[in-house]
Amino acid sequence: MALYNFQRRGMLYVISAPSGGGKSVVVQQLLATMPGLTYSVSVTSRPMRPGEVDGREYQFVKREEFEQMIRDDLFYEWAEVHGNFYGTRESTVREALDRGTDVLLDIDIQGGMSVKWRSPDAVLLFLMPPSMEILEQRLRARKTDSDEQIRIRLENARREMDFWRFYDFVVVNDVLEQTVQSAKNILEAERHRARRLRQFEK
Ligand code: 5GP
Repeated sequence: MALYNFQRRGMLYVISAPSGGGKSVVVQQLLATMPGLTYSVSVTSRPMRPGEVDGREYQFVKREEFEQMIRDDLFYEWAEVHGNFYGTRESTVREALDRGTDVLLDIDIQGGMSVKWRSPDAVLLFLMPPSMEILEQRLRARKTDSDEQIRIRLENARREMDFWRFYDFVVVNDVLEQTVQSAKNILEAERHRARRLRQFEK
């Protein structure tokens, strides 16, 4: 009996949210529960926060090192966010996609727009905070940023909120479990999109 055997390249799954949108918990839960999905660890010039580990949350480098990496053309995309540099390594993305693994990019909206432009096949999910008030509460509750940083982040968030229209999917991040479920459903459905598949008959 001939069996239908479908294969596909990995896909890029971009998740962006205005700062404090509760993105990291969603990302962690997605990674913990979706087989075949790998996280792209970004490079950043921002200082390490307590509890962070070099190579796990980010690869932490000095600003000059980051600038050298830009000149060496090592990034798939990079952006300056809240005064620091962040970038996705080209090699990380390429190697995973070639293996047929899906890659999760937790990147800001500038990064999301670069990916959309470079890879029209990528899937872009925008996590929308339920309201500006809730966003501010979340930022304050994190206790990781100074008042000045919170002010900058809120100002940026207000501007970023409008970009939802350029994303493929929008989920209002109100109840965590529902948000994670929606993010999983979106990824799962995209994995079955006919135009991503190549067919081999055994
Ligand atoms: P944080 O400093 O709070 O970890 O991250 C700040 C912002 O930078 C978040 O919106 C995060 O998604 C974004 N970010 C992290 N890595 C990258 C990256 O490689 N490229 C871009 N464009 N943004 C990133």
